[in-house]
Amino acid sequence: MADVKNPKVLATPVNIIVGSHVWVEDPDEAWIDGQVTKITGKDAQIQTTNGKTVTEKLSKIYPKDLEAPPGGVDDMTKLSYLHEPGVLQNLKARYELNEIYTYTGNILIAINPFQRLPHIYDSHMMQQYKGAPFGELSPHVFAVADVAYRAMINELKSNSILVSGESGAGKTETTKMLMRYLAFLGGRVATEGRTVEQQVLESNPVLEAFGNAKTVRNNNSSRFGKFVEIQFDKHGRISGAAIRTYLLERSRVCQVSDPERNYHCFYLLCAAPAEEVEKYKLGKPQSYHYLNQSHCYELVGVSDAHDYLATRRAMDIVGISEKEQEAIFRVVAAILHLGNIVFAKGKEVDSSVPKDDQAKFHLNTTAELLMCDVKALEDALCKRVMVTPEEVIKRSLDPQSATVSRDGLAKTLYSRLFDWLVDKINNSIGQDPNSNFLIGVLDIYGFESFKANSFEQFCINFTNEKLQQHFNQHVFKMEQEEYTKEKINWSYIEFVDNQDVLDLIEKKPGGIVALLDEACMFPKSTHETFANKLYQTFKNHKRFIKPKLSRTDFTIAHYAGDVLYQSDQFLDKNKDYVVPEHQDLLGVSKCPFVAGLFPPLPEETSKSSKFSSIGSRFKLQLQQLMETLNSTEPHYIRCVKPNNQLKPAIFENQNIMQQLRCGGVLEAIRISMAGYPTRKPFFEFINRFGLLCPEALEGNYDEKAACQKILEKAGLEGFQVGLTKIFLRAGQMAELDARRAEV
Ligand code: ATP
Ligand code: MG
Repeated sequence: MADVKNPKVLATPVNIIVGSHVWVEDPDEAWIDGQVTKITGKDAQIQTTNGKTVTEKLSKIYPKDLEAPPGGVDDMTKLSYLHEPGVLQNLKARYELNEIYTYTGNILIAINPFQRLPHIYDSHMMQQYKGAPFGELSPHVFAVADVAYRAMINELKSNSILVSGESGAGKTETTKMLMRYLAFLGGRVATEGRTVEQQVLESNPVLEAFGNAKTVRNNNSSRFGKFVEIQFDKHGRISGAAIRTYLLERSRVCQVSDPERNYHCFYLLCAAPAEEVEKYKLGKPQSYHYLNQSHCYELVGVSDAHDYLATRRAMDIVGISEKEQEAIFRVVAAILHLGNIVFAKGKEVDSSVPKDDQAKFHLNTTAELLMCDVKALEDALCKRVMVTPEEVIKRSLDPQSATVSRDGLAKTLYSRLFDWLVDKINNSIGQDPNSNFLIGVLDIYGFESFKANSFEQFCINFTNEKLQQHFNQHVFKMEQEEYTKEKINWSYIEFVDNQDVLDLIEKKPGGIVALLDEACMFPKSTHETFANKLYQTFKNHKRFIKPKLSRTDFTIAHYAGDVLYQSDQFLDKNKDYVVPEHQDLLGVSKCPFVAGLFPPLPEETSKSSKFSSIGSRFKLQLQQLMETLNSTEPHYIRCVKPNNQLKPAIFENQNIMQQLRCGGVLEAIRISMAGYPTRKPFFEFINRFGLLCPEALEGNYDEKAACQKILEKAGLEGFQVGLTKIFLRAGQMAELDARRAEV
């Protein structure tokens, strides 16, 4: 069984002797190579190439392949010794040569170059990959897209490409390349007007303008998850597309920390041509509370003015009318003005009013832009309607509560605007009802573990657990298929999956999401009572830990590592609640676009419960996504961020190792280690090890029988001989090499 507890144990110990070249763990370099100078019992002393002498358990050092080609191999499964340091070394050797792509079987690993590499994505390259057998050319995103497309055409089956990795690893860029290549394969000769594939491609800049922002991790970070479904007709041409998005980060609209930025669209609009800026009564980004909480306004190498025009052009192409565009940016401007409505104490106790003339100006402008009544806007921000059995009264809010109300309105407006854009793009590109198959491309946030982790990280990591399970099952299936194809016995291979973590989170009833909903519905709950409930319920759960010193935090032992969550904002963040006063105000806006963002609530929902759970809705969305993915043939791309400086040519070993662990690359390798990780075609095996049994190669020998003889003579057990390859257990290759060294 694969050892899930200790991810470093990829191989069983092999014959290591004095003089062996090995890899040993190093606090700075992750792994460093060296030579064994002494062996005492179970310990080895190693002289490392960075000049240290270290002692390590024999079981924790790994043999170094002295015959590994200096430029690396393009597929990890070609490594003679498949273990963590070997994988890392291989990626590093390739990255130094600007070979950013490497396969691990069918998985593509992509290491962000942080520089435009010449020609690797041009049309000549696309032409080359078109129809080329997988593995024949260097590893590439185009090759993955090509395989997916061919599989779809040949097997008449939907495919999906799952792109993952941490923030800044290159998921979105990779997704765009995939889409470009699919548009190249499935595009039609441009007729008049816009083609579907053009619209599909231009949806990217529109979504990026409204859903991306500069963060510390990435200057163009997607703050939402995305699944793009590209539909094809029976001739293999693109005939429609659908975009599904997940969990836009709402808090960013009114809260930005230094040195990050709010969503790009705000800065783009402030840099728009003068007449537009004047029309919306806008000034510099520096003058808006929602932007000036951080001192970052401009991005190196980016012109907001240029991007504003580019976004407008992209909006034209995806089919957003001039009038709609005007309304969209009017709402964007309104949000900036809204954020500048500062409140001061009013005359009555606990009431609030716009603080000064400035605040009044912004109040008036907001009302003007949203085309609603100023007084009604002020009331909606500063007052709450209380319905008692006897009467309906208006209660005033103090300045702090009014500010919360204002920010709530800004977030609701923005998220509705974003959803509108997605719907509009979908309607405008159009769905092909006759499409039989599709290629789905998933660009979704990777596993996150920060100093402080809240509800967002919880949802993101939940997603990753789901995807990880899907991934494991798939990798396992692929392994089995390979074994079946070569007709070898694989019946005893097992792997441990992460169902227990998923149960902890999503089980109904009783999982964390369900308990959170319960807490949200019960008026007296606080995050303390919620946390206590978790502690009681999961007292004995292997994946749940109550930290000793905290009364409200909890830790989940995720597949990628432990994450400590702070529960204090879980209840608030789980509630998708639109204040009825805001709904009533904007539902009657004179601007049909704005009113359309606030459609009347169906009778029942408005009466029965005002609470709608973000966690449960997300869980449902995930379920649907998994159903879609399960009906497709998946392909995986794991993006890796080589350093946190976002600079080219810096390869940080520890950092990368951690990502390979989280991204399931090591898990995939581990699953394969549980079986027969080393495969060699008969002739290659004979070339390398024939000298161990020269008698097997006499005369007109049969390759398969010769391999069998060599292996038997070497005294190995448990290996398998397939139809064209031999399959070795972990460590057996090193054992054979050791024998060869003795000859
Ligand atoms: P997030 O989760 O924050 O959205 P991401 O994984 O989507 O991150 P990207 O936005 O795709 O990350 O990439 C970050 C940056 O890295 C890009 O803006 C670009 O500068 C650079 N980059 C990524 N991939 C490539 C590539 N293949 N070639 C050149 N530069 C790249
Ligand atoms: Mg992205």
